[in-house]
Amino acid sequence: MSERLTGKCLCGACAFTAEPGDAAGVCHCGMCRKWTGGINMAVQCKNVTWNDDAPLKAYRSSDWAERVFCGTCGSNLFWRAVDAPEGEQILALMAFDEPERFPVTSEIFIDEKLSTYALAGDTKKMTGAEVIAMFAAEVGEG
Ligand SMILES: [Zn+2]
Ligand SMILES: [Zn+2]
Repeated sequence: MSERLTGKCLCGACAFTAEPGDAAGVCHCGMCRKWTGGINMAVQCKNVTWNDDAPLKAYRSSDWAERVFCGTCGSNLFWRAVDAPEGEQILALMAFDEPERFPVTSEIFIDEKLSTYALAGDTKKMTGAEVIAMFAAEVGEG
């Protein structure tokens, strides 16, 4: 998707424009469950910009990543690797003004998904170990 799309948090204090990927993915890991209070549905984006006075707050959830939310209303907004290029953020699907534009095509950490729910439709599924192996291959050893 080359078009820039817009979105915002619940209170509207944090608003973005972004160049999103074509599809949304779901992460079923235990950390995302706690962070979102549900399942984490998100879209990988480039060149994300936020309004200058957005009250963004970051929680450093691991050595390599942080989770960013609105300091006013608490909406979960994005996950980013701390060494990611400027503007590369994995934005919350539901923060987009038109979340239904994105098909949900993948599920990661499928081995941590609770047995009490499942997504309808066909998705590409990866276990946590498969995701970590893919990530290690991308960034190289260490
Ligand atoms: Zn807000
Ligand atoms: Zn996760």
